[in-house]
Amino acid sequence: MRSSHYDILFEPVRIGPLTAKNRFYQVPHCNGMGHRAPSGMAGMRRMKAEGGWAVICTEVCEIHPSADVSPHSEARLWDDADIPALARAADGIHQYGALAGVELGHHGFRAQNRTTREVPMGPSSHSVVSYDPVHSRMMDKQDIRNLLRWQKSAALRAKRAGFDVIYVYAAHGLTTAMQFLTKRYNQRIDEYGGSLENRVRLLREMIEVTKDAVGDTCAVPVRICVDELLGPGGLCSDGEGREVIEMLADLPDLWDLTVGDYSNDARPSRFGQEGAHEDYVSFVKQVTGKPVVGNGRFTSPDTMVSQVRRGVLDFIGAARPSIADPFLPRKVEEGRMGDIRECIGCNICVAADNTYTPIRCTQNPTMGEEWRRGWHPEYIPERESEDQVLVVGAGPAGLECAVSLGKRGYDVLLAEASEELGGRSAREPRLPGLAMWGRVREYRVEQLNHLPNVQVYPASRMTAQDVLDTGANRIVIATGSHWRRDGVARYHRSPISDLDQAALFTPDDVMDGKQIEGPVILYDDDHYYMGGVIAEKLRLQGLEVTLVTPAPLVSAWTVNTLEQTRIQRRLLEIGVQIRANEALVAFHGGEGSLACVFTGNTQALKAQSVVMVTARLQDSALYDDLLARSGEWAQAGIKTVDSIGDALAPGTIAAAVFGGHRYARELDQAPHGDDVPFLRENAQLGPWS
Ligand code: ADP
Ligand code: SF4
Repeated sequence: MRSSHYDILFEPVRIGPLTAKNRFYQVPHCNGMGHRAPSGMAGMRRMKAEGGWAVICTEVCEIHPSADVSPHSEARLWDDADIPALARAADGIHQYGALAGVELGHHGFRAQNRTTREVPMGPSSHSVVSYDPVHSRMMDKQDIRNLLRWQKSAALRAKRAGFDVIYVYAAHGLTTAMQFLTKRYNQRIDEYGGSLENRVRLLREMIEVTKDAVGDTCAVPVRICVDELLGPGGLCSDGEGREVIEMLADLPDLWDLTVGDYSNDARPSRFGQEGAHEDYVSFVKQVTGKPVVGNGRFTSPDTMVSQVRRGVLDFIGAARPSIADPFLPRKVEEGRMGDIRECIGCNICVAADNTYTPIRCTQNPTMGEEWRRGWHPEYIPERESEDQVLVVGAGPAGLECAVSLGKRGYDVLLAEASEELGGRSAREPRLPGLAMWGRVREYRVEQLNHLPNVQVYPASRMTAQDVLDTGANRIVIATGSHWRRDGVARYHRSPISDLDQAALFTPDDVMDGKQIEGPVILYDDDHYYMGGVIAEKLRLQGLEVTLVTPAPLVSAWTVNTLEQTRIQRRLLEIGVQIRANEALVAFHGGEGSLACVFTGNTQALKAQSVVMVTARLQDSALYDDLLARSGEWAQAGIKTVDSIGDALAPGTIAAAVFGGHRYARELDQAPHGDDVPFLRENAQLGPWS
């Protein structure tokens, strides 16, 4: 049972006409499923209800075709035809006694309207926020009346769909209501522009129409940005951000607070700690009698208690912590703190939405798979055979596989070459900014401590003969990968011929503590986090570092994880030189040759060393040796040998965890063969003549 210290988190709290059963509040978050995969979205939300969250909200829900942010797949209530899909989410959430929330939104000039071809509109005429060659038009009075009507209609539809908590959304710079609030976007000279009182008018009217429409039985919160982190030029918590809350103090039923843009709200752990918003949001409870929810990657129950006790927040808002562990409230309630799967702040979940794909999570391999594969984050079917399983390699893939097989009840042997378990999830967290990522290892090692049927053998590098000698029936090779030295990745598809091997290093060498002399050329053709992290580490050691990349941006893929701008800023601030759009084509005699990716023209750059952050190669030697000895398997009792994680094909930590989990789930299940291994929602055909 839990300690009474946490009781405060389980107090009921009133929101308008409703009561939330506790203080755990899943704030709206994108998930890449939205209107294209409504059952997937509903299954994911229902799981959180089962996990004990009191309020569970959808992602943003477009209220009209002029709010179209496709190809992002958000929820929609354009008309009545959209009600059944959303009703599924509300029903699922209600099954476990939680309140269902929907974040109604109109996106102003953020909506490129790529699908609907409506002309974007906002408070003033602006370029849309992407590089689309599109401008918004200034909304006239009729447009404003229309917007209020759409908000009201969507609210009524949301109520019919079964939602209890129906939002007015004015945050993230993405919504019309917020665009009207900020001087920067609102250059109107009518009663909706100019003074703050005028700029607040639209938000006030949106709250009023929503409350008029549904406020008798539903709660109407406002999600608002209280500080844009732009100083007095934007909304700020000691300026206009505060004044807006003061003006509207008790009008909404709840304040849902955000800070900065989306990249700050979902701030990656490399650039912000748990509860980082406190200084900006703590004033709100002093100026309103209505409950307040705020987020900040809260994973520690002690931090949550502290936020409530000190009067910062009434509800603990969570998006990512609820993704990493949908059962977080239940675990706190039952005093199972060690079982909490803490979010690592990597933003792989956000990257799914940014790449228009269903959500996934590094820590929680079942995220997004609740409906389509029927996976549950806490329950896994019992074993279906007496087979003993040998897992070789205790990186993210091997650890997850061993833990999940252990939970199914299999007899498992886990052999790891090093003294320490964790593989890359032990090594990489020692690099600058990645400490939180160690939770991937910590959670799973903690789980192993409670699984007596999993025998762990550290410092045990396995050979094929060792494997054959164990007597295990199922063999899982999770031996990981290593970084290439030959320059092969995306720009070079075959090795660079002219390389001075003596001066060449890889991230593995850096993590092994090899001595590297500067100046250094760091050649990044990987484009995820490693290039930027190694450049930072070497620079902090005092070396001169030039990061060379064929991409236009440093760590270009991290645009999707909302890290890119901060990574490039940090490198520039600490004095890393950046050469974008160039590829390393040769290195010898203390000189690199860099080719422009457009013209091929080369320039020389002097350096003592090169660190190649290019591609990785699977460590498949053991797997290959075992395949070569397949004739001996039967006698050794071996039924199958499989390779998972980076040993199969190097990828993200999330992919390795997923691979390990999938193996464990599917062992002894009927093979999928050529069948699609998950449910799909195929588009319904329209009329045809
Ligand atoms: P993944 O991300 O797929 O889990 P990692 O590289 O993080 O891959 O982990 C692979 C782990 O496998 C490392 O900890 C490594 O020490 C271990 N390993 C590699 N080869 C062997 C082997 N022959 N026997 C035991 N462990 C091995
Ligand atoms: Fe947290 Fe990463 Fe999972 Fe997102 S993907 S919830 S940031 S662990």
